[in-house]
Amino acid sequence: MAEPSQKLIDRFGRQVDYVRLSVTDRCDFRCVYCMAEDMTFVSKQNVLSLEELHQVAAAFVALGVGKIRLTGGEPLIRNNIQSLIARLGALPGLQQLALTTNGSQLQRMAGNLRHLGVNRINISLDSLQPRKFRQLTRHGNLDQVIAGIDAAVATGFDRLRINAVILKGRNEDEALDLVNFAQQRDIDIAFIEEMPLGLIDEHDRALSFCSSDELRDLIGKQYQLDPLGDPDGDAGPARYYRTGSGSARIGFISPHSHNFCHLCNRVRVTAEGRLLLCLGNEHSVDLRAVLRAKNYSPELLRESIVNAMDLKPERHHFSLHDTPEIVRFINMTGG
Ligand code: SAM
Repeated sequence: MAEPSQKLIDRFGRQVDYVRLSVTDRCDFRCVYCMAEDMTFVSKQNVLSLEELHQVAAAFVALGVGKIRLTGGEPLIRNNIQSLIARLGALPGLQQLALTTNGSQLQRMAGNLRHLGVNRINISLDSLQPRKFRQLTRHGNLDQVIAGIDAAVATGFDRLRINAVILKGRNEDEALDLVNFAQQRDIDIAFIEEMPLGLIDEHDRALSFCSSDELRDLIGKQYQLDPLGDPDGDAGPARYYRTGSGSARIGFISPHSHNFCHLCNRVRVTAEGRLLLCLGNEHSVDLRAVLRAKNYSPELLRESIVNAMDLKPERHHFSLHDTPEIVRFINMTGG
């Protein structure tokens, strides 16, 4: 049986202390690099209930996980999500409760989220031009998202970060505007290289790929970029730079061009309760089956999680030119 004080260590000596929980695969946006226009979503009974999500989170925290990020799909459109957040915020031992959101619900929710214990929020924003924003998200309203970001800034979280995916021929001309936007609000920004997850038909990923190095050179022409060192557990995979005297950072997440798997401290739980050991591989364990088994117990759940660590692969292999090996979309996994 897994001792409650046991830590999660994989075969390569990496300690897993960070879990990303996808609370729904549904989203009110359909970002072109993330989802197909017509998506089939998982039926409600196959998605973990809020109670099951709480059990999973509690099991991980008992095993030394100090950081949980809620993601999706869009976590803030899950019914009664705030009741789950309140319970997670009260878990003894959890040091950071974070959220990744498209910002559509933040204007009305930001204050409450802070009150319930959320300390960090990442907000996705790929364009500051209303029409282009709509094209990239297919459904999004830019004003609503900016109002959400400003509500979060006014609320005051430990850290706020803009996540931007830059695609050649679509929004590469906006990288500097996005940096200016984040700098004006004194919040972080991270540029994420597009990953080949799921089959999309809107663009050719090889042609639209924009590397972190290209973006850093472009941004470096306007901003002095002082490196903050290699990524660490707290920064996640982002390589951060500071500019000027503000506290906001500019980061680059480079799953293609700078592999960071040796620092990986995280696992993911999909909306269906599949514990996924690596975003770029399919090694997984069905936690929903454990949760719904007749003999369910928190001890058995913890044991399944401990045993799963042996499945964590050493690294991912992404190729821009081949058909994606990973056909699941990121909304299933939780970005
Ligand atoms: N709905 C939330 C949001 O929009 O942030 C959370 C889920 S979304 C899948 C999480 C992050 O994954 C977003 O910042 C999004 O830009 C990023 N993302 C989605 N598909 C991606 C891909 N193929 N490559 C790189 N990043 C991706």
